[in-house]
Amino acid sequence: MTKGRNSLTIAVFEGDGIGPEITRPTLDLLTAVARDAADFELTFELLPAGAGHFRETGSALPHDSMERARAADAILLSAIGLPDVRYPDGTEIRPQVDLRFELGLYAGVRPVRFFPGNGCPLADPRAAEIDFVLVRESTEGLFAHMHDGKVVDDQTATETFQITRATSEKLFDFAFGLARRRGADDGRRARVTCVDKANIFRSFWFFRSIFHERAAAFPDVEADAAYVDAMAMWMVQKPWELDVLVTENMFGDILSDLGAGIMGSLGLAPSADIGDAHAVFQPCHGSAPDIAGRGIANPVAMILSAAMMLDWLGRKHRSEALRQAALRIEDAVDATLASGTGLTRDLGGTASTEDCVAAVIDRLGS
Ligand code: NAD
Repeated sequence: MTKGRNSLTIAVFEGDGIGPEITRPTLDLLTAVARDAADFELTFELLPAGAGHFRETGSALPHDSMERARAADAILLSAIGLPDVRYPDGTEIRPQVDLRFELGLYAGVRPVRFFPGNGCPLADPRAAEIDFVLVRESTEGLFAHMHDGKVVDDQTATETFQITRATSEKLFDFAFGLARRRGADDGRRARVTCVDKANIFRSFWFFRSIFHERAAAFPDVEADAAYVDAMAMWMVQKPWELDVLVTENMFGDILSDLGAGIMGSLGLAPSADIGDAHAVFQPCHGSAPDIAGRGIANPVAMILSAAMMLDWLGRKHRSEALRQAALRIEDAVDATLASGTGLTRDLGGTASTEDCVAAVIDRLGS
């Protein structure tokens, strides 16, 4: 890639609550990284969407925002939603979920790793070895028919659960590919664990059967399976033994917050929702209305999501410079957290959001 010829457009949704507070300094950091890079440039296109926008206009995700996001090279989203902004049926507006369906983003990637000295609640010294990835299917399961849930009468409510072969095959291939790459990076045999409830539900037995079928195409990667209730316990008891977990949408939604809890704060948990052509990068957390407007939100999850975006773009465009830029950001975050400076209140510090980003920019190196 050469600068100018390969400029990348990033669609940015600032979102609600703490969203704008963590987005703007993250864009400053991305600008600083891109300024140093020889062969790519980033252009940010801020697009309206979210609960605030819905309150003002009646639209949570305007058609124009959707189309611009679709046309962009990648999508960076902070957090969307406010608990008091709801549709008449009582559910919240959720354009971040609609984007996953609209763009076919079936693989929700949620890395969980140890950050030195930052609130990991596990006392075991092996906690320092925690480094696993949860891959959450993001378009099916209990979310597939989320618009069709029924309150039948004042005694009964029903929802529909769906697993398809086509999406499951793509999901498992993604998880095995990710594990293979991680294993190659670390020089060890990789493992993928299918997390399900195949002891009770036929749909999960179907899910697990497809998992084992796809595993045959990745003989170099170990494949095993676990029930979700047991996995919830193991994520607390021995998370250092996990590598790549792949699971259904709702289970992944819940387990990824457990992963954030292991790390010490939702403010440290990044994510990517990846499909065949598009990808959205956003922190795991929500709009945190309880701390919005005070400038104290932890921007690390947003910054690490932006790093995941550069890594994804780097792999897609075969640009070593983009991948190196992602690594520079991750290293600067690690150095900042390890130094104990720039820590926001959720991590026991007193730094503001801006202070934290400034500390990361200071450690970018060249
Ligand atoms: P939340 O993640 O916003 O907050 C949960 C707790 O974590 C709060 O105490 C909050 O202060 C804290 N927290 C979250 N992010 C933080 C950060 N960066 N720094 C410091 N502390 C942080 O979850 P919630 O309160 O259940 O939801 C609030 C709103 O966000 C709701 O409207 C919900 O629907 C929405 N939401 C959106 C997304 C998304 O956009 N992907 C995800 C989850 C929730």
